[in-house]
Amino acid sequence: GSKIIGLTGGIGSGKTTVARFIENCGFPVYYSDDRAKTIVNDNEDVKNKIKEILGSEAYDENGMYDRKFVGGKVFKDDRLLQQLNQIIHPAVRIDFEHWVSQQTKYLVFKETALLFELKLNLQCYKSILVTAEDNIRLKRVMDRDAKTYREVETIMSNQMPEKDKIKLADFVIFNNTNLDDLEEQTEKVIFEIE
Ligand code: ATP
Repeated sequence: GSKIIGLTGGIGSGKTTVARFIENCGFPVYYSDDRAKTIVNDNEDVKNKIKEILGSEAYDENGMYDRKFVGGKVFKDDRLLQQLNQIIHPAVRIDFEHWVSQQTKYLVFKETALLFELKLNLQCYKSILVTAEDNIRLKRVMDRDAKTYREVETIMSNQMPEKDKIKLADFVIFNNTNLDDLEEQTEKVIFEIE
């Protein structure tokens, strides 16, 4: 089978940008967040379980997942958030295993914000962390999204500290400068893994 390389980083670190560079090098990338967003709409078993814990309003009149509603419900209810994650995370894991089994490349990459939090690194051959200074990440996210400084700061403070992730990662990419530098570092890491 393929060797799985975990790719992670906090909000605005540049992990998606790195994932695109990896794809440009010819390696497949599984985007966990994107797949999760598809799964909550497409997987009937998941949909039913979510409605059981959050009510039928978790889906709109077109049967589409109502992210705003769900977010509002789990925002201040940790137990409910955990229940939701216990529905979504195993479904993503199964989806990933299916995806991996279809890959033919010897190296495949799994992009996920929660690599270390969910201990998914233990199922990976190697892990790559993309990191950058907090103020740089803040600025990049504010430029990209319609989010306030406070909103980004709150998300950042709820994620695992960068220093802890740096200790756990096999490779660390410091994304504090420009995209050319980021691409060069990405290629260097792939070369070292190969
Ligand atoms: P999130 O978890 O919030 O989705 P991410 O870790 O996937 O973030 P990206 O979306 O790759 O991060 O990058 C965040 C933003 O910063 C994007 O708009 C991206 O184009 C930009 N960016 C990333 N790296 C650099 C860089 N070195 N120079 C300039 N802009 C960058």
